[in-house]
Amino acid sequence: MSEARVRMERDGDIAVIVIDNPPINAGSAAVRQGVLAAVRQLEADASLRGAVLIGAGGTFIAGSDLREFGQPLAEPQLPAVIAAIEACPKPVVAALHGAALGGGFELALGCDARVAAPGTVVGLPEVTLGIIPGAGGTQRLPRLVGIPRAIRMICSGERLAAAAALEAGIVDALAEGDLRTAAVVHARSLAGRKQRLRERAVPAAAAAAVAEAVQSALKAGKRRPAVQAAIDAVLASARVPMSEALADERAVFERLRVSREAFALRHQFFAERDSAKHPSLEGASPRAVQRVAVIGAGTMGSGIAIAALEAGHEVLLLEQDAAALERGATRIHEHFAGRVRGGKLEAAAAACAEARLQASLDWSRLAEADLVIEAVFEDVGVKRQVFERIAALARPGAVLASNTSYLDLDAIADATRRPQDVIGLHFFSPANVMKLLEVVRGKSSAPDALATGLALGKRLKKVAVLTGNAFGFIGNRIYSAYRCQCEFMVEEGATPDQVDAALQHFGFAMGPFAVADLSGLDIAWRMRQARAASRDPAARYVHIPDRLCEAGRLGRKTGAGYYVYPRADEGPQVDPAVQALIDRCRADKGIVARPFDDAEIVRRALLAIVNEAALLLAEGVAERATDVDVVLVNGYGFPRWEGGPVFWAREQGEAALSAGLDELARCSGPGFVRAALGPVLTEEARA
Ligand code: NAD
Repeated sequence: MSEARVRMERDGDIAVIVIDNPPINAGSAAVRQGVLAAVRQLEADASLRGAVLIGAGGTFIAGSDLREFGQPLAEPQLPAVIAAIEACPKPVVAALHGAALGGGFELALGCDARVAAPGTVVGLPEVTLGIIPGAGGTQRLPRLVGIPRAIRMICSGERLAAAAALEAGIVDALAEGDLRTAAVVHARSLAGRKQRLRERAVPAAAAAAVAEAVQSALKAGKRRPAVQAAIDAVLASARVPMSEALADERAVFERLRVSREAFALRHQFFAERDSAKHPSLEGASPRAVQRVAVIGAGTMGSGIAIAALEAGHEVLLLEQDAAALERGATRIHEHFAGRVRGGKLEAAAAACAEARLQASLDWSRLAEADLVIEAVFEDVGVKRQVFERIAALARPGAVLASNTSYLDLDAIADATRRPQDVIGLHFFSPANVMKLLEVVRGKSSAPDALATGLALGKRLKKVAVLTGNAFGFIGNRIYSAYRCQCEFMVEEGATPDQVDAALQHFGFAMGPFAVADLSGLDIAWRMRQARAASRDPAARYVHIPDRLCEAGRLGRKTGAGYYVYPRADEGPQVDPAVQALIDRCRADKGIVARPFDDAEIVRRALLAIVNEAALLLAEGVAERATDVDVVLVNGYGFPRWEGGPVFWAREQGEAALSAGLDELARCSGPGFVRAALGPVLTEEARA
């Protein structure tokens, strides 16, 4: 027997059905069973005139239990529960607080009215998980907000706050005082009247508005199958009788929930949920952080400052150079002004955020900071000097973080007498936009300092991943193996645009050569020069990128790199001069170009990623295989709907993967280290 997750209380002639399934009142089989039984009781008890459906604790049903979605669903299923509420002659009012998402929101839409506490959010995030709402969401929401708005909300998984939901007509009233009392009063005011959404007509919409909503949803949703299916279902709400449309919606939901894409997206969902919970940090509490000092007001420093201001922190921005400080402060101001101009932020909120910023050249003020984030030039000598100074000025217990991309964190921490306080916080550019944050563990980093980094990630609405201290950490190290493999393929006969197109078609946001042009070929060039002495002379080395740099082709900023950019506002164009340069490099090595097809390109690139991930796991730089998926999806444009490289690897099966790596080792040549697959294939236990 499942434990009771629903109880029935009374408030005079109104039943109060309380869903109590902590922590988020997820809509599990036990919850569905309990609500159904309560509705039957409401119907049978002549002394009751209506009911309120409410969540115990801090929320209504904040979503479904996703673990159920990969298996046969237990009865009763949600549509049957909603049908019972609609069939019951007495009104049921949903009392919403916290979050009413997914199946929880569909249940609320099946009720006769919705009363929400301020602070509630509602939404249908199913499409972001590769499915569509399966319990009437695509049919009932359009009846409230019309087709164009329903398409926008459902296809993007947008969450509406209570006030916006009231304005859109999704909730009937906001509860000013006690939610439960307000909902009971509302239920009583209905005086036994039913207000079924299924009996309402879908409001008429202009064809142009519908077409516009469809086009932008398809574009933003990258034409994924769930987006198209959701659009079709919403459009059907105006054309097909409700019972037929509900059956069709359910059938699509059933098909999609066991699709490969839905499994991949659920895998990524769980990997992200767990990324900041590290078994190795269990018991460590984050240190309190209110004031953040950022050192270096360049590209990264100003982005980090914006992210911290937007999360409500007070920020002290420090520089060595008055002009650089001024430029950084202006960049931050322009960011907020742009948000206000674009209608994304209220002027008062922007003013409030900017008022929390202090830009200064007075380093003694570092004593005020709880967390210091250094973002100065990528030079170990400079960083060591800066850390020596920070460590002397920052208060005891303050966390000292470096935003280094590649440098040895221990060499930086050693410049202080407090290496336990030193961690890495590797943000991605632009730091206020990119989701990923690598939290780097040095050899002396204290667990609570690392926990502080992970907690900061959450506060900044980022996905934080713990990584060991190794050249490039998890992300840049894997990316460099991936790019290197792509260079091998170009040397062997593929063209850069063919490689880019194949990987973009697979789903990467951009191909590796277009990315290289965008970020500038000189960064990697300088790094290769710095590491030249320690490189294995026998290892395979592709000279093409060096030759491009020597020819002054440093990427987009010089108008030419792997591609040519005749106009600043135009995309990359193929350049015959690059093909000639590649031909010369091949000829120097006596390589005869051979044809590649897209499948081979994608396969080799993915195998290279998986191989490097396995090496990182074996070295303990990545602690969990799923962390690699989180890093690649959130920081490197790997398609989320493919679940990440580890998800892909596990799908291949051990034998095929192993043969693939052998083949990769053969065609990569000397210097390639073939990994053992064990750590990539082992599934972590999921709570
Ligand atoms: P940047 O050149 O734009 O900015 C660096 C700033 O640091 C400059 O304003 C400079 O005046 C200041 N600075 C230099 N030495 C200083 C000192 N001793 N004291 C105080 N301020 C000093 O560089 P960036 O792109 O913002 O990179 C900063 C760091 O972030 C580097 O370690 C870099 O590797 C890392 N990073 C960069 C990116 C990226 O894409 N740009 C991404 C991740 C990490």
